[in-house]
Amino acid sequence: MREDSTIVNAGRHPEDHYGAVNPPVYRASTILSATLDELQEKESNLNEIGQMVYGRFGTPTSFALQEAVAALEGGHATAATASGLNALSTALLAFLGTGDHLLVTDSVYRPTRRFCDDMLGRLGVEVTYYDPHVGAGIAGLMRDNTRVVFVEAPGSLTFEVQDIPAIAAVAHEHGAVVVMDNTWASPLYFKPFAHGVDVSIQAATKYIVGHSDALLGTITCTEETWDAVLTAVRRLGVTAGADDCYLALRGLRTLSVRLARHQQSGLALARWLSTRPEVTRVLYPALPDDPGHELWRRDFSGACGLFGLVLARPYPREALAAMFDGFEHFALGYSWGGFESLCVPTFPERFRTATTWEHPGQTLRIHAGLEDPDDLLEDLERGLARLEAAA
Ligand SMILES: *Cc1c(COP(=O)(O)O)cnc(C)c1O
Repeated sequence: MREDSTIVNAGRHPEDHYGAVNPPVYRASTILSATLDELQEKESNLNEIGQMVYGRFGTPTSFALQEAVAALEGGHATAATASGLNALSTALLAFLGTGDHLLVTDSVYRPTRRFCDDMLGRLGVEVTYYDPHVGAGIAGLMRDNTRVVFVEAPGSLTFEVQDIPAIAAVAHEHGAVVVMDNTWASPLYFKPFAHGVDVSIQAATKYIVGHSDALLGTITCTEETWDAVLTAVRRLGVTAGADDCYLALRGLRTLSVRLARHQQSGLALARWLSTRPEVTRVLYPALPDDPGHELWRRDFSGACGLFGLVLARPYPREALAAMFDGFEHFALGYSWGGFESLCVPTFPERFRTATTWEHPGQTLRIHAGLEDPDDLLEDLERGLARLEAAA
């Protein structure tokens, strides 16, 4: 089956639901057994995927989503979690304990960095941040106690592409697990398990849900890493609400057609912005002159609608406000991956430790939504005009 057909079919079992195309929302905590035998039989198969034992362990709604995401990411099994950050923290806790060493890309999503510094640090895990461009040079940072190498590509806010296969080869030589935040590419545009990743995280909040109306995360594993992740999920009480799983499944079915349009508009805007005098750099690996372009072309099959840019010079705050406040389509708001366009200022220079981000101009992040791309382009053009006029 080709991927677009898998997106439509994966995780669907109409025969289990009176023929309904979509699984119903099972709102359930208590799951009843008719007999003592049945109750004890379920308990002895607690870790089997698809067992209805207790609501926290999942229902047919979450099982369907988990099955579909596992199929698309190309992994063995998936756990759904209440948010993307919940998926990241659970995956890291599955492998790390006191005295262990963790390597994390310096371009990591900032809340992941905060979890590593504040929570893992308190547990006695040593955290080292590394240059996202390190590639096989990660060998120089590996220690005897390095348990996890965390990768995210492209990087949050700055969009560096990492050489995942090279990093994974070194990590595996040292017996470390590679955990990836694969949210930007979604399960469609980067296949983590074909590139050496052991555990892949999606902030399903973004493109999988796709409509800005639910928070959800997924952790997808190889067969070898699944036991450790499932244990962490169970011990921590990590779960995902049935309504949110339903919304994610509904979003997932249209992921391919939505992403194609996000990519098309993202590229059009990024190309146009890279010709503008107000912009010194566009941070988008799909552009041929992006430093990550060759790696992106080698390993990814597409680009989503999220990219960054750096303004050519410092602008007064009032000029930035004139640009942001007057946008008709680019709303000011965090998160991304919904149908709507967004534009926010970002501050990557504030929290890097292994590398620096030195640009005189403000960095911005743009999400190209599903509006008409010409409307988006005109909105940006008027925004840059306001920026200049107020400067
Ligand atoms: C948004 C995001 C997350 C966190 O997802 P939440 O559902 O908001 O917790 C993790 N990683 C990346 C790259 C993100 O953009």
